Amino acid sequence: MLHLIDSHCHLDFNDFDKDRIAIMQNCARAGIEKIVIPGVTIASWPKQIELCSRHPMLSLALGCHPMFMEAHPDDALQQLEQAVKQYQPIAIGEIGLDFYVAEADVAAQLRLFEAQLDIAVQYSLPVILHVRKAHDQVLKLLRQKQLPGGIVHAFSGSAQQAEQYRELHFLLGIGGALTYPRAQRLQRLFSELPLSQIVLETDAPDMPLCGFQGQRNSPENIPLILEKLSQLRGESSDYIAEITTANCRQLFNI
Ligand SMILES: [Zn+2]
Repeated sequence: MLHLIDSHCHLDFNDFDKDRIAIMQNCARAGIEKIVIPGVTIASWPKQIELCSRHPMLSLALGCHPMFMEAHPDDALQQLEQAVKQYQPIAIGEIGLDFYVAEADVAAQLRLFEAQLDIAVQYSLPVILHVRKAHDQVLKLLRQKQLPGGIVHAFSGSAQQAEQYRELHFLLGIGGALTYPRAQRLQRLFSELPLSQIVLETDAPDMPLCGFQGQRNSPENIPLILEKLSQLRGESSDYIAEITTANCRQLFNI
């Protein structure tokens, strides 16, 4: 039996309201023992907190996502700190920088991200990072903080950036993007990275696998991502599952 973890899944989203329990049961049968649910907006935290308290296979992370800047109130940081004390999440996330859209408010994102990193440092929590077109800015900030590590989710940066994250004890999350034939650069990168730096994720309901475009993604697809990584690396699924799960458990202390 494989032991697997989905290190990044939005199972709290409404997309799963009708069949969330069935999905968790299917996951348990497939060896998926843990699903980490990152926070996106404060409005979505109560549902996450409730689900994670009711289902031991779900692990809570809390944070304010950089793609939803307008949803974060002025007192977001006070609320985050209060929630960290009260609900003891395994990580601060999903936080980061997203400079993909031209109209991104760079200064506001930097302020919010740095302040959330400071909360992670203060409470000795790892972070779950969302980074688009901003790896160098993120790396620069991470070097200034004494974080206990983290995950760069859906990593698609360069081999040099991967190495810089490794020096800072950051793991790299990989999911459905790996399954597309056109993703040759990404496939090469993840076939060459040390396995000790890799964790599996779906980012469900987003990031569908190749062949499932336009459909809801699910944590049930973790074994397909594992299989693809096994093909690319020429290592057994058992071995990759063992190491990537251990990476995740060690980082989050779960
Ligand atoms: Zn996400």
